[in-house]
Amino acid sequence: MERIEADILIPGRGEPILDGCVVLDGPTIAYAGPTAEAPATPGAGIYRVAAVLPGLWDCHAHFMGVFTPDLAELATNAPALTAMRVARDAAVALRAGFTSVREVGGLGVWVGRAVVEGTVKGPNVFGAGAVLSPTGGHADLHMYPVHWVCDLADRIGMLRQCDGVPECLRAVRLQLREGARLIKVCASGGVMSQVDDPIHQQFSHNELRAIVEEAGQAERIVAAHCHGKPGIMAALEAGVRTIEHGTYLDDECAEAMLECDAVLVPTRLIVEEFLAYGAAAGMPDYAQRKLLAVADRHAEAIGIAHEHGVRIAAGTDVGGSGTTTPARWGQNGAELGYLVKHGLSALEAIEAATATAPSTLGPQAPQSGQLQPGYDADVIALSGDPSVDIGILADPTNVTHVWRGGERMKAPGELSPV
Ligand SMILES: [Zn+2]
Repeated sequence: MERIEADILIPGRGEPILDGCVVLDGPTIAYAGPTAEAPATPGAGIYRVAAVLPGLWDCHAHFMGVFTPDLAELATNAPALTAMRVARDAAVALRAGFTSVREVGGLGVWVGRAVVEGTVKGPNVFGAGAVLSPTGGHADLHMYPVHWVCDLADRIGMLRQCDGVPECLRAVRLQLREGARLIKVCASGGVMSQVDDPIHQQFSHNELRAIVEEAGQAERIVAAHCHGKPGIMAALEAGVRTIEHGTYLDDECAEAMLECDAVLVPTRLIVEEFLAYGAAAGMPDYAQRKLLAVADRHAEAIGIAHEHGVRIAAGTDVGGSGTTTPARWGQNGAELGYLVKHGLSALEAIEAATATAPSTLGPQAPQSGQLQPGYDADVIALSGDPSVDIGILADPTNVTHVWRGGERMKAPGELSPV
């Protein structure tokens, strides 16, 4: 048993409690509430901390092991090297306070398995397997011959092209076969791909519907990468659960999202990081041009969604390994500051990274993201109050303690595994 007494307890959803206490009993939370009303816990480990929160979620990230903002790198990195890089990234994320990651394309299904078996110290990972797009779409590497890219899809399992309903069904089934907990599609063009346009829809209505239906049979939701409005509307019509990025979201899109009970995962961190550091780090010219074209509109979309009351979950789109790559693992907590900058209150941003986050997994969601009895004992402690200064979460050194499934993964003075 572990007993965490805090100056402030932020439950994830609902009002914070001053002088709060969380009691962990094995893998679940036994008590969360005022210290004055907490049960006696003889023999428990006792921790006195400034703030206690549910473990954070990153609802949009990639275990890709790249060192540059250029996806062409995916074709040249050796899979064994990639695997070692992402094992480190998983540990870095955990120490930054992220106890759960919804991994929307990359090696997440394998990282998740390595964490469960105890090989890697990392967050709970809910992986999508490969990102699905049509040929020439966002999950294609347009600078290489198409048969190379098809070969790469089989070899690294991070992206896959599929065209027409039968290929889309097979692509979904291939991801399920590897243990995907959700399916990720590109319903519009993207910024980091060479020749497609972020505003254009990708996949037909029929293809999107077939993917959503096939995923649904296995109780998986579909997450749709969308910038342009046609893709957002088509994806919602097909029944996807989440809109990723949502750059050209307008009033009509927001209302449609409310009607479908869909969740927006805006991923502001990657936009800010690549605007500031992308060019110097080797981001290709085509990606720089596209980023400049969407960056301001993307910020606006967050505000529009928030005003309409669309549910927002926090995601970063980090995928970089190493210590200097822009949009790298470990920076995840900075997303909450960006959400606040674009209209959310600090507590709303925390809710987006905790209580709201599991809803992005539909039926695959664990009982997580809140400090409530019966919830998973994924808990973090901070050196200050993030409802006063959300920036605290951007620096992993402010995350003093991390428990995942009731197991202490980080505490002051303990050696870092990375
Ligand atoms: Zn992404």
